[in-house]
Amino acid sequence: SSGPSDLAPEVWEKVKDHPCYSEEAHHYFARMHVAVAPACNIQCNYCNRKYDCANESRPGVVSERLTPEQGARKVLAVAQSVPQLSVLGIAGPGDALYDWRHAKATFELVAESLPDIKLCISTNGLSLPDHVDEIVNMNIDHVTITINMVDPKIGAKIYPWVFFDHKRHTGVAAARLLHERQMLGLEMLTARGVLVKVNSVLIPGINDEHLIEVNKAVKERGAFLHNIMPLISDPAHGTAFGLSGQRGPTGQELKKVQDACEGGAKMMRHCRQCRADAVGLLGEDRGQEFTLDKLPEFLE
Ligand code: SF4
Ligand code: SF4
Repeated sequence: SSGPSDLAPEVWEKVKDHPCYSEEAHHYFARMHVAVAPACNIQCNYCNRKYDCANESRPGVVSERLTPEQGARKVLAVAQSVPQLSVLGIAGPGDALYDWRHAKATFELVAESLPDIKLCISTNGLSLPDHVDEIVNMNIDHVTITINMVDPKIGAKIYPWVFFDHKRHTGVAAARLLHERQMLGLEMLTARGVLVKVNSVLIPGINDEHLIEVNKAVKERGAFLHNIMPLISDPAHGTAFGLSGQRGPTGQELKKVQDACEGGAKMMRHCRQCRADAVGLLGEDRGQEFTLDKLPEFLE
């Protein structure tokens, strides 16, 4: 479990009020996600574009895609009725850093009215090295990178393509590009003192044993938490690996990999894989109370 006993004191100081990082805080502080990231620059075999980005989120009902202005209105409305709101995250439905203008504009609007709210983003990392300066300048103090492999040969089984530098790349070359950008982005952020959590999706038969190497690699580069999440397959929608019916791991398989990684980067075991438009205390989702049609029309 994650908590004061297994985090360095200087890290604990930064995350103790963050519901996702502190098991204590998640009873007292609320987080919300706004779904303002419209598009993605990679294809994960487990992604179903009809749903939220699996960077952080489980498949569910499609999130409403909001403009930055709508997103900011929603955050202010939530802040008025959820006084424990301490964290605003952008985690989908696409990638927060691809077409970054949407996330950036949302954060800027919110920060004008709620200067104390903590900002975080999650990303697949491909665009990350290009935005590190802005992330630091905007006081975004937590970044989550989804890293499912450090071996491009394994990556080629997870990512059919990545779009980078105006081109679509495929195969091992695509996975290598993604891998190199993920490692570079992680190193750049930790060098600047930004807290980085790594998410990995456990895909049975593809990266289960390999995640131990991922754990070592991200620990070496300064990630403060590693969150191994189960692939959530949705056979009804052919979500995972096209229509091949890739299953998700059993609870036992998940625990085995998490246990094997103990002693590496700190493990996070209470992530709930919230939706890209989740609102409220961890474990509750009041998102449906704050859909677009229920918001006030103007920013106060
Ligand atoms: Fe889908 Fe997220 Fe992967 Fe992009 S990064 S393909 S939105 S799961
Ligand atoms: Fe926190 Fe995990 Fe939910 Fe993100 S998906 S808000 S890290 S519990």
